[in-house]
Amino acid sequence: MFFGDATYILIIPAMILALIAQAMVQRAFSTQSRVRARRGLSGAEAAAAILRSNGLAAIEIEPQRGSLTDHYDPRARRIRLSEPVYGGTSLAAVGVAAHEVGHALQDASGYLPLRFRHGLLGPAQIGSTLAWPLAIAGLLMGSNQLLDAGILLFSGAVLFHVVTLPVELNASQRALAQLTRSGILAEDEIPGARSVLRAAALTYIAAAAVAVMNLIRLLVLRDNRD
Ligand SMILES: [Zn+2]
Repeated sequence: MFFGDATYILIIPAMILALIAQAMVQRAFSTQSRVRARRGLSGAEAAAAILRSNGLAAIEIEPQRGSLTDHYDPRARRIRLSEPVYGGTSLAAVGVAAHEVGHALQDASGYLPLRFRHGLLGPAQIGSTLAWPLAIAGLLMGSNQLLDAGILLFSGAVLFHVVTLPVELNASQRALAQLTRSGILAEDEIPGARSVLRAAALTYIAAAAVAVMNLIRLLVLRDNRD
C-alpha cells in the first residue's frame, strides 16, 4: 500500500471495521464452539444430511487444514471443511458447515450472483495484484494512462468484493433455513449458529468497504493530479 499521501486516511475507518469484524468472528466462533448441538451431528454429518435431503449426495465433503478455511469449490463440486468444523459437533461447526452447503445449493439452483462471483475471481486476483503497482507507477511517472489502467483493474477487484456480499448473506440464509427444516438444530440453537454466520458476514462487508474506500482513494489521487 502507498502511504506517501494523506488520502490513506480515507481507508482507516474501513480497516478498523475489518479488524473489529475479524475479532468478532473469532470470538463468536470460539464462544459457539463450546456449545454442543443436542442432536450431536458433526459439521461433516450435518452437511451430508442437508446435501442428501436436497438430492445433492454426489457432492463430496472433505477435511481441510487450518481454521476458518472452510469453503465450497464450485469447480470440483466439493465442500472443504476446516478440521474443527468437519469433526466438531458445536453450534459453530454445524453453522459453518451448513453455510458451505448453502453455496452448494446456490450452485445447484443456478444462483446467478455465485456464477458471477466465480467468473470474477481470476480477473479480480490479477486486478488486485497489478492495480496498485500500476497506479503508483502512474502517479510517480505522471502518467494518467498508467493510473487509469490501475484504477480500472482495481474496479474489477472492488466489483468482486461487492458481488461477494449477496452470495455470502444468501448462503447463510439458506443454511439457517436448512438447519431449522431438517431439525439438525432445535429452534433455540439457531441463534447461536446465526451469531457466527452474522460475524462472518461482517468480515465480508468490511472487506468490501476497504476495497471501495481504496478505489475512492485512487480516484481522489487522480483528481488531485488533474
Ligand atoms: Zn461463504
